[in-house]
This record gives sequence, C-alpha cells and structure tokens, in this order.
Amino acid sequence: MLKTTDAIDQITGVGPALALTLKKNGVQTAEDLIYYFPRKWEDLSHLSPIAEVKEDEKATIKATLSNLKSFRSRFKKMSIVQGIATDESGIINLVWFNQPYLKTSLKPAQEYFLTGQVKKGQRGLQLVSPTAEAADKTPLHSGKIVPIYPETGKLTTKILRRLIRNVLPTIRDLADYLPDQVIHQHHFPRLHTALEALHFPTDEEALQEAKDRLSFDELFLTQLAVQYMKANYFNEPATPIKMNVDLIKQVLAGLPFTLTNSQKLALHEILQDLEKPKTANRILMGDVGSGKTIVIAVAAIEVAKAGLKTAIMAPTEVLATQHYYTLKPILDKQRISLALITQNETIGDTTADIIIGTHALIQEKVELKSLGLVVIDEQHRFGVKQREALKQKGISPHFITLTATPIPRTLALTIFGHLDISVIHTKPLNRKPIITQSLTFQQKDLAYQRVAKELPTHHQAFVIAPLIETSEKLSAQSATKLFKEVSARFPTAKVGLLHGQLDAQTKATTMHDFKTGRLDILVATTVIEVGVDIPNATVMVIEGAERFGLAQLHQLRGRVGRSNLQSYCFAIPSEASDEVTERLDLFAKTLDGFKLAEIDLQLRGPGSLFGLAQSGFIKYRLANWTDAAAIARAQKAACGLIEQDHELNHYPELKKRINIKEMIAHRE
Ligand code: ADP
Ligand code: MG
Repeated sequence: MLKTTDAIDQITGVGPALALTLKKNGVQTAEDLIYYFPRKWEDLSHLSPIAEVKEDEKATIKATLSNLKSFRSRFKKMSIVQGIATDESGIINLVWFNQPYLKTSLKPAQEYFLTGQVKKGQRGLQLVSPTAEAADKTPLHSGKIVPIYPETGKLTTKILRRLIRNVLPTIRDLADYLPDQVIHQHHFPRLHTALEALHFPTDEEALQEAKDRLSFDELFLTQLAVQYMKANYFNEPATPIKMNVDLIKQVLAGLPFTLTNSQKLALHEILQDLEKPKTANRILMGDVGSGKTIVIAVAAIEVAKAGLKTAIMAPTEVLATQHYYTLKPILDKQRISLALITQNETIGDTTADIIIGTHALIQEKVELKSLGLVVIDEQHRFGVKQREALKQKGISPHFITLTATPIPRTLALTIFGHLDISVIHTKPLNRKPIITQSLTFQQKDLAYQRVAKELPTHHQAFVIAPLIETSEKLSAQSATKLFKEVSARFPTAKVGLLHGQLDAQTKATTMHDFKTGRLDILVATTVIEVGVDIPNATVMVIEGAERFGLAQLHQLRGRVGRSNLQSYCFAIPSEASDEVTERLDLFAKTLDGFKLAEIDLQLRGPGSLFGLAQSGFIKYRLANWTDAAAIARAQKAACGLIEQDHELNHYPELKKRINIKEMIAHRE
C-alpha cells in the first residue's frame, strides 16, 4: 500500500526520467502530487450522440471501434492511425497522428470513451486525436469534469491525471487538521473529500465545495501562523504611559500647521496604545508626504515627559540625519534632549531622551535602559529577533513601524496581521497633484525641458538612473553615466551624484548640499527612494522606468510634490513594449498609491510588492489575494482558535501545518 509520505519513485509508472521531472517541479512525495492542484477544469461530462456532434467543437462520445489501420503519410512522413466509431445514432471517422502504438493498444469491437476536436475531413466529420479509454472502466480523460494541470515540459496533464489518480487513495492517511468546529461552522467537506473532488469532481457543486474548503485552508493556515506569532511573540508587558491631553494640545499649538484629520486619528490610536500595559505593536501607513514624522514626534514627546526614552531607527544615515533636523526645533521648544548617532558623527549624547540613528547603530551603541518606545522607519523586517534581543536585556518597549509603502488591506492583514494598523489617508491640504507623464525614450527631451524651466526659479530636480537589480556596482555605473549626460545637458547647473557605492561622508554631504539648495539637480539611484524630504524639488525624472514596479515608481514620485509648488514626474523607459507603455500610462494617470499597490497586487501578486517572492507562506494555489471577505473570514476563525488556545496545544496536526518558523524568519 502506498502512503502519502512515499517518494514518487515508488509509484507505479514513475520511471527515473519522470521522477526527475517531478522533482524539478518540487514534487517529492505522493502527498506533493496530491497538492499539485489543477489550474482549471474542463467539463466533458456531456456525452454526445454521434449524430449530433458538430464541426469545430470538442466532443465526447461513447462508441464502438472498428476498421483500425495504421500507415505512414507520404508527404510528411507522419504515422497515422485511422478508425471508425459507431454508436446507436451514427458513425464518425477517427484519426490520430504520430501515435502508432494505438493500432495495437486499441481493441476493435470494444466500446470506448472518446474525446477530441471535431473537424471536417475528406470523408465527412472526424474526431482528431481523441483520447480513448475503454468504457468498461471509469474514464480519466473524458465523460466527466476533468482537471487541467500546470504543465511543464514532459509533465503533461494526461500523465498527471494518471499519477494523481494512482496516489489519491493515500489521502486517507492525511489527518484532517481543521478543527471540527471550523468545519461544521462553514459546512466544509472533510479534507480527503475535498482533495478528491478537487482533482476528480463528480459535479460542479462538489468542485465548488472543494475549492471553498481548500482555499479557506490556505488563508486560514497563514492567518493562524500570523495570529500565533502575534499571541506568542508580540505580546509583552510594557510600561503604560498615560495620555497627557494638556501636553499634546500645547505641542500641537506650537506647530506651524494643524494636523490633518487622518494624522489626528493616527496619533490618537498611538497614544491609546501607549496607555495599555502591553507593548504596542502598530504600523503607521501613510503615503509619502502624508506627514508621519510629526505624529510619532508628538508620541515621543509624551513618552519623554513620562520619563522614558524613545529610539528612532531609520534605514539610512541620510534619513536619520533628516529626522534629526526636522525634530530638533520642535523638541527644543519642549526642552527634550535629542541625539543623532551615525557612522560619521554623534550629536548630543546617548543618554538623550530621544535618540535617532540607523538600525544597527542604535542596537549596538545605545544603553537602552528605560526605553519606552521604539520607532522603526521604513523597515518591514524588524521583528522577532530584535525584540528577543531587547527582552534579553530586560526591556519590552512599545513599537511603532512607519511605512510609506501603501499596502492593500488584504495583503496587510497577512504581512502585518500581527500588528495593529493605522493609516493616514490624506495629504496636507496645500499639496497640488503631481503632473505625471509617461514618455517614450525618444521624447525624453520633454522631461529635461521641464527641468530647464524649473531651475531659474531655484526649484530642484531629481533624475533617477535605471535600476540594475543584480548589482549595486552596475547601478552605480549607470548613475555615473547618467550624471555625465545630465551635467553636459545643463552646463551651468550644479549637478550632484548619489549612489550606494559612495562612502557615507560623500553621501551625507551630497544630500545636505541638495537639501540646502547648493545643488540644482541630483542624479541618483534608488538610494533616495524612501523618506527624503526636499520641499523645493519639483521635478522627478525616472529613466529606465520599466524596471520599477508601480509601487516603487510611486515612491519615487513622492520625492517631489512635498510643498505647495506644482511638481512634475516623468517616467521614461529605456526599452519599450506595449506592456511597458500600458503600465507606465497607468502609473501616470493614477496618483493614489493604495490604488497602484492594489493593481500591482492583482497584476503581479504579492511577491513583487515587498521582495516577498521567496516567502513560501504567501504562495497560494487557490486562494485569491484580493478577496477581502474570504481573508477576513479566515482571520476571524484563526483569531477565535488562538484565543482559546494560544499555543495550539490541543491542535497538534494544525500546529504541524502552520509554518511559524518561516513566518518568523521573515520577520528577523
Ligand atoms: P512622510 O509621511 O513621507 O514621512 P513627512 O513626515 O516627512 O512625510 O512630512 C512631509 C512634509 O509635510 C514635512 O515637511 C512636514 O513638515 C509637512 N507636514 C506634515 N504634516 C503637515 C500638515 N498637517 N500640514 C502641512 N504640512 C505638514
Ligand atoms: Mg518619512
């Protein structure tokens, strides 16, 4: 008896060559074969009387064979097998090409299920290369709804149907890991019933039930892993910090602007978090320029007044430095001390109330005693490992992550399902929509003409060099080349160059020079992608635009339009195709980052959005990433179960199935 854990070599009909092909496709065991799901189904359950088949349709008949003969065609040297099929209603010709063995394997005077394309031949209608299966056994390829599998090379749907039918009886070994309560509540079929029906459904209804159950399983197992992680790794006791309404009012009154409603709401959610005796774990999402910094600054002020410290971790030195200079005047007013720690300089000292630095530096250099709040800017991965490290030192601060990457809600529930989510939906009122144009390579002068128009009024421009994903060095070279080009175009302008291969000092100086207006144009790689705030920059030229995803293009566009000045963005592909043009046109006319991210999710799946491509836990075979209702249902079920049993001790089969290790690894 075959078992689900058996290697595929042990299955009858799997020779060394086929085993190799299967393994190349990730199929190692009988169970892997069962989880090799069809990509679609074809309903061949309708049996046509021969008299009723029509030209150009795909027809299934049940008929008796006769007059089988084989020969070679004179012209194309093809082997041809011919025959005749007869049922009560009529007769039809049969023809097969290049399958000479059929002459001997097919038995005359016997009844067969035959499915094939109906074509007009020299002597009337004929069935071309039909599948033929003896009618005394249940057919595999016709007479019912048949599965169509993802095919690669020699691994054809026909072979897969045969193999999967052979291993299907082993599913009786598979424990149904879903708790009874969940199965009953949703009226799901049992696991083995669902798997069987997914491959070989008896009817549409059984197929639909199987899809419902198995796509639920995919979403549920992911949600369960997320909720497990949330309950067991993101749930530490913390020092509650009472909301200080008078202080907050006073701080807000001292700002040069009023917060948008979205900012106020996010701030309120954060301040409420801080009041709880459990660590806050919140992500604050807001499009570039939506004003996240001030929101966390106010929270940090409250923490400081309560006698605790805040660490703000930025992904780059450039951003850390920028945060320092933005916050300094606001904090001075409140007499709160601030320190900046970068590779090159330290301003203030490590005992300051608020410390800003890059991730690594803060972790290494700062005495984190009495740390109340950690703010992580644009770093999605910061998670379990760092928390564990802090826990070892006996501290469990509140955590707030900031991201300008707009993440569709359905995806956020998975990637950030262990966090609470706040969203700043709107931008400050004085912002004008950024005029965006998708140009061809030949039209690129138009972009630089706009740059030329902006410079005399002391506005500044970014020019982004084509991204070379495989190599920082090549990216740096492409930026250097573009830098020369741009410098030649604008001989009187001051042009700067920024890329990842420059030393930190040069980078900081260049950035500072651009920020203070000593440079007119900055040619850069995506080093400047996140967070950089240059209100005076009004043009963004993106060369090699086809290499960026929609979400990434939007990030780049967000570097301009950060004041009340009219700003422009140009997307210029180095290599054009209809697909590229269509995508860049879409980018040009869609200014809403969340909408673009949603489109990216639909077009390219979640992999492209965050470099998640390698993460196994987001590979769904059946479930749909954009089905909000289904995801919410799975999340609800998962939360319910975790509430009952944090560690899933009563559900060992389920616990085996959820990939907590991978989920945590993704957050290290
Ligand atoms: P991001 O969300 O991209 O980090 P920032 O926090 O850098 O955005 O804010 C972008 C700019 O908008 C900053 O110059 C900031 O001072 C300004 N800003 C923030 N909130 C408001 C507001 N409510 N009204 C006007 N300007 C604001
Ligand atoms: Mg920012």
